[in-house]
Amino acid sequence: MHNTTDCCTISGPFHVLRGLQINMTDFSSLGLCEPLLQAVAEQGYKKASPIQAKAIPMVLTGRDVMASAQTGTGKTAGFTLPLLHRLSEMRTLKNHPVRALILVPTRELAVQVGESVIRYGSNLSLRSAVAYGGVDIEPQITTLQEGADVLTATPGRLLDLIRKQHLTLDHLKILVLDEADRMLDLGFKAELDQILEVLPVRRQNLLFSATFSKEIKALAHEFQRHPVKIEVETPNSAANTVKQSVYPVDQHDKPEILSYIIEGGKWEQVLVFVRTKKAAEKVADLLSDEGISATALHSDKSQHARSRTLVEFQAGAYRILVATDVASRGLDMDQLPLVVNYDLPKVPQDYVHRIGRTGRAGSPGRAISLMNPEEKKQLEAIRKLIKKPLKVEPVPYFEDGVNVTLNDAPTKKPGKPRSTSGQPGKKPAGNKKRPAFKSRSGNPGKKPAQSGRSGKGRR
Ligand code: AMP
Repeated sequence: MHNTTDCCTISGPFHVLRGLQINMTDFSSLGLCEPLLQAVAEQGYKKASPIQAKAIPMVLTGRDVMASAQTGTGKTAGFTLPLLHRLSEMRTLKNHPVRALILVPTRELAVQVGESVIRYGSNLSLRSAVAYGGVDIEPQITTLQEGADVLTATPGRLLDLIRKQHLTLDHLKILVLDEADRMLDLGFKAELDQILEVLPVRRQNLLFSATFSKEIKALAHEFQRHPVKIEVETPNSAANTVKQSVYPVDQHDKPEILSYIIEGGKWEQVLVFVRTKKAAEKVADLLSDEGISATALHSDKSQHARSRTLVEFQAGAYRILVATDVASRGLDMDQLPLVVNYDLPKVPQDYVHRIGRTGRAGSPGRAISLMNPEEKKQLEAIRKLIKKPLKVEPVPYFEDGVNVTLNDAPTKKPGKPRSTSGQPGKKPAGNKKRPAFKSRSGNPGKKPAQSGRSGKGRR
């Protein structure tokens, strides 16, 4: 493979910048041009995050960079800002051929990163495009024909566009592999190899990954040249701002416990992760039956339906989104207070990505996992990965929206108490107690969460 050389040897095979304490760096000290600083200010960002403080100056030098950063740490701006800076300093080419390519593993992430490119580049005269599968290719072809300096794409659709001769990458100067670990997990290695084959040899290569596994290091070695290695957090550690709990629950009690937690804690918005598409639909239906507005997101839905569901959830049209791991990356909400793992993930890395949907950009977050006795092995694997004890706690009592067992109020205070009786402002009755742990089909005694139908219901 072209571009393969040994990495430089300042400390080991890579140039390691680990442990630098640059927590509160001004963007103005990083070397970015004025239009980008202005865009950052327009976003309301006060200071650069640690990954941004380290990655931005390095990317600006034109060197290859290999960075490990958890989702939610601001890594997108960490590569997008210096990438836009570098392009803005290069001579503009007629027809705006693609000069920067950002490869991402999922359609959701493509949309999210594409939007970041537009936001951060709003004061520059660069063009951008997004290409991903599952939707009509024609509008993407039209946008590319009009010219795009920056293209964000998933591997499959990108190859499609290249094969059908709607795209050449002859002028490419910068390649970014975002969430490279996920890319390999999803089996994109062959596609990546085919893409690398058609790129010009002289280019800057940036690799961002949540983990630096053996496979990721091998991939970096394959296409990067003397990469600077940047690490800002212990690989695989879950975001420090997220408070995590595991509740032991029988599988058949999970629906009831879930609605009890949502109503008892008066959580305004909750992202619930399940393992299967069928479970996503079923749990969303059960919650809707309880009067809690919920919708499902999984890969059986069309791309348009998935995008619409995400936008609607982000806009607050639904209180609960029940999703498979399709949403464990690429859902970016500033104020998502709670993530519930209805099922523990089979792949422990998915736990880190799932809970990374809350506690983003330094805001506090909460993650609750419902574990049945058969899921103990998965919990062990997660503990090993995140190197945290992750205590199993009893399901808490709630009093007026506050978890009195843990003295743990929701991170985002609701305005008015949500009514479960159909009357706004009326307190949900009977949610002081823990639920009776009986099967839904049996006699549960006192129901933990009331089942009035005041919510918006499923739409
Ligand atoms: P990312 O890790 O790139 O997905 O970013 C996570 C979230 O952090 C996004 O909502 C960004 O808009 C936000 N963000 C990125 N950089 C900053 C910053 N320096 N200050 C505050 N928020 C930021």
